[in-house]
Amino acid sequence: NSDLILYVNLELVNKKSDRRYIVEEMLGQGTFGQVAKCWDAETNSYVAVKVIKNQPAFYQQAIMEVSLLSMLNDKFDPDDQHHIVRMLDFFPWKNHLCITFEMLGHNLYELLKKNNLRGLQLQFVRTFSRQILDALIVMKGAGIIHCDLKPENILITPKVNSAAGVKVIDFGSACMEGKTIYSYIQSRYYRSPEVLLGYPYTTAIDMWSFGCIVAELYIGLPLFPGASEYDVLSRMIEIVGGQPPDDLLREAKNTRKFFKHVGSIYPGNEAHDGLCSSYRVLTEDEVEARDSKKPKIGKWYFPRGRLDRLIFAYPWKNLNEGNLPETEKEDCLALVDFLRGLVEFDPNKRWSP
Ligand code: ATP
Ligand code: MG
Ligand code: MG
Repeated sequence: NSDLILYVNLELVNKKSDRRYIVEEMLGQGTFGQVAKCWDAETNSYVAVKVIKNQPAFYQQAIMEVSLLSMLNDKFDPDDQHHIVRMLDFFPWKNHLCITFEMLGHNLYELLKKNNLRGLQLQFVRTFSRQILDALIVMKGAGIIHCDLKPENILITPKVNSAAGVKVIDFGSACMEGKTIYSYIQSRYYRSPEVLLGYPYTTAIDMWSFGCIVAELYIGLPLFPGASEYDVLSRMIEIVGGQPPDDLLREAKNTRKFFKHVGSIYPGNEAHDGLCSSYRVLTEDEVEARDSKKPKIGKWYFPRGRLDRLIFAYPWKNLNEGNLPETEKEDCLALVDFLRGLVEFDPNKRWSP
């Protein structure tokens, strides 16, 4: 990816005065480092500074974050219209690479928590979804896979004319389509079936995560909060129905971690587009026998059930088809239909942004 790295303007690196950024408070911590709210004494404004851990692997990935985000900002979204965080600058400090961003508000997980994990009103789900999709269209156009879409990586924007808005942040795991390096990517709850199974991936994996996020915004809890990868996959199968297509299972590297080959036809499994499959998912006992440790119980109590039931009859929405007003019913049906296009096992059939 040397062409990308050249895109970074290295002249910026050495012109920083020593006391430009004054740390006011810590905003968040992640895998890659810490993020601080700082006063920028040169521009007299607040900025968010991400201080990357000083280990070579993190440094390399941070250079990727700087490269891809500067490309997205400058080349694909010069007028800041597409809900992608603006990177302002980057510089080394005491052996740490630091990246400065525009200061944004709370992340969507924090917002859900403030709401006691009871989900947002459909109007906000709709607005936020549309804006995230806008960002995803730009990313797909640039050939960039985010690889870590989740509520923590979507931030509320400060209110402009009191309209609610969000921006996508954290390109620290992002990569170029066709130049994928890592196979262990995406946060577990938002991990797509093809990544779980070890199959070559595309920008379609972000659409899977996006579907998980949309559902979570509405119901307030993660859609597939599995305590292990097997747990995540069995929740997918139970909630969405069906399973990944046979040609994907045949070629994926990790299929045998989750599935058993049962011959050319497995008549019990006709959920996938009415077709029979030659694979069936392992039972919990088989997984236990293999791992000799049981999948742990998920962190949250989560009623299992089909996708439509989850959307329609979520307990604290106090909704069910019987007492739903007609318009709300139509909205819920539309939401289920929308989600079905996103949490689609087959990456080729999954909706693009
Ligand atoms: P991850 O573990 O998801 O890879 P990370 O180490 O790459 O995280 P970020 O996701 O970039 O770090 O930032 C961590 C947290 O800091 C975010 O979830 C968010 O709450 C906060 N944060 C990051 N950037 C900003 C910003 N521009 N404005 C306000 N808060 C921010
Ligand atoms: Mg993050
Ligand atoms: Mg990250």
